[in-house]
Amino acid sequence: MPGRRRICGSRERWIRAARDRALIQQENKCIYCRTPLKRTEATADHAIPIAEGGIDRDNIVAACQPCNRAKGRMRAAEFKAALRGKADGSFYIQLCATVYRLNKRTEAACRRLQRLVA
Ligand SMILES: [Zn+2]
Repeated sequence: MPGRRRICGSRERWIRAARDRALIQQENKCIYCRTPLKRTEATADHAIPIAEGGIDRDNIVAACQPCNRAKGRMRAAEFKAALRGKADGSFYIQLCATVYRLNKRTEAACRRLQRLVA
């Protein structure tokens, strides 16, 4: 059905634009684990799942594929708590949590290094 295809294409473009906007706001990093992301690697994640009413543009965040997959239908706050070790999580959540801790320590080390050379 050509009309339906046009509607889907328009929605995909809308989501991609919202993801790109979010990625810039997030300084080109995954909102959850802070892994640096290129535009082509970023996925659009609904911070509040669609099933719970999260359908507006501000609900779209940029996430890496592993985090988006591990988060599934969780709310963003719930997933972030799991990454920070405040909740139980699956193997994939634990994997994303490890990446988050590594990125956090790397960022802290870079800040210390920048202070030393400044
Ligand atoms: Zn991530």
